[in-house]
Amino acid sequence: MLPLHESITYGPVASRRLGRSLGVNLLPPCRKVCTFNCPYCQYGWSAQTRRGVTRPAEAWPSVALVVKAVAARLRHAVAQRERIDRLTVAGHGEPTLHPDFTEIVGGLTAVRDELMPALPLAVLSNASTAGVSEIRETLARFDERYMKLDAGDAATLRSMNGTRLSIESLIEGLSEVRGMVIQAMFVKDRSGRIDNTGDLAVANWTSALRRISPLAVHLYTIDRAPAWPYLQPVSAARLGEIGHLVELAGIPMQVFCTTGWPGSPGISPKQM
Ligand code: SF4
Repeated sequence: MLPLHESITYGPVASRRLGRSLGVNLLPPCRKVCTFNCPYCQYGWSAQTRRGVTRPAEAWPSVALVVKAVAARLRHAVAQRERIDRLTVAGHGEPTLHPDFTEIVGGLTAVRDELMPALPLAVLSNASTAGVSEIRETLARFDERYMKLDAGDAATLRSMNGTRLSIESLIEGLSEVRGMVIQAMFVKDRSGRIDNTGDLAVANWTSALRRISPLAVHLYTIDRAPAWPYLQPVSAARLGEIGHLVELAGIPMQVFCTTGWPGSPGISPKQM
């Protein structure tokens, strides 16, 4: 598993999807906060799963602190002529849970425009807050939105993401987000209790994709030790089959396979 971030900025992280991605962590330092509790999470299990549970507000980095840290890091990059391909809001949890998410995105947009105007601002979200109109309006201010969807039915959502959020509300929220890429993790465990790679689970998932109509879908499997140690990566062949079904639904897709974790089947160079 990865250690939790101590600072607001991290990287740039080498990513085939995002290039050299400078990460922005809006979560409390060294404290994972997420509405999901995915068994494949590279940051371990979520101890707190409800919005606002980590208040008081001082647990979260302030708007001023985030903007100051990102501005300093971008100034350094400009001075050093460092290549950065994306400024990506992600971190060890769900970034849209920050109580001042909208204000922070406004501040990040301003410093990006001032210091590196050509740098795309991206966000990685688990989509659990996509049903909130204010969050959707803020997501629309990003240049790129990467939203998670691993399941198309209630049972698979529960086992893959450890949430009591209804699959219907998740799909409805995502359907309201325009211009996004869906990122989907495929895994199974040895017992078969956790598995979103079977024909029925995939059929339900592709059906949800048709309703959501994303710009594209990115498919991948685990490349680091997960929270639940019995998970297994999915073969490149199965990911390719699932990707083909996405294409049949008329949606562009890309498969990302990795060798970063010893449990990986060793498919292609590390991507994420
Ligand atoms: S949504 Fe992301 S941060 Fe949250 S538990 Fe799942 S993998 Fe971890």
